[in-house]
Amino acid sequence: MKRIAYLCAAIGLTLVLASCARAPVKTSLPTASTAYLPPSGPVMRQDAIHTVGPGETLWRISKTYDVSIDDIMGANRLTDSSKLEMGQRLLIPQAAPIKPVITIYPSNKWKYIIVHHSATEGGTALDFYKAHRDRGWETIGYHFVIDNGSGGKQDGQIEATPRWTKQMDGAHCAAGSMNSRGIGICLVGNFNYEKVSPKQMESLAYLVNTLKTNYRIPSSNVLGHGKVTGAKTDCPGKKFPWSEFYARTR
Ligand SMILES: [Zn+2]
Repeated sequence: MKRIAYLCAAIGLTLVLASCARAPVKTSLPTASTAYLPPSGPVMRQDAIHTVGPGETLWRISKTYDVSIDDIMGANRLTDSSKLEMGQRLLIPQAAPIKPVITIYPSNKWKYIIVHHSATEGGTALDFYKAHRDRGWETIGYHFVIDNGSGGKQDGQIEATPRWTKQMDGAHCAAGSMNSRGIGICLVGNFNYEKVSPKQMESLAYLVNTLKTNYRIPSSNVLGHGKVTGAKTDCPGKKFPWSEFYARTR
């Protein structure tokens, strides 16, 4: 019940923010709004190390850990807030537990949500970025990555990639022209053999519900990669828990 209450509060907040012309936050994306999960109890703070992901900004990192940009810049002796490098490790002083930062951009192009697995044991958005660049792609193919606790990211951490922050077509599902109209979400893991972790499922449900609500995407348009007509793949894996997923996102 508690979780449902938080979810409802989060969606409510999303809607409130979505209806504002400008979100009351320091942002370089003034027409966008951003969804946050409310804190769930007393906030325990501790220093954290953060590895900068593809396209990640100090603003996004600041919101993720609830630490000001100035404090992060001071702790890392940064002089230019725009000069972050992928793979750079940052000290985040007195970081709060991470919150998902899902920016909602005004758009009518997103009609589907496509769920993938990475088909790897571990990895992060940065790892997939490098692998996809090696294939000659411009950037990582997915719009979002939901981590599984490997590679220095936390279990259930939601990473937004440049495909999302720049509102680019994806490179995750050519079948059904989904790259130009489907938001690609990749869960790290191989769900032919492993289970989706409870935290990954919680984050996936939160992300999918946030996107469904804001872009008015019906449940019938939320699909596993392999369920897209013409796609020949078992992605996101034979063990993907569809009944639990649909129970939490319908
Ligand atoms: Zn896939």
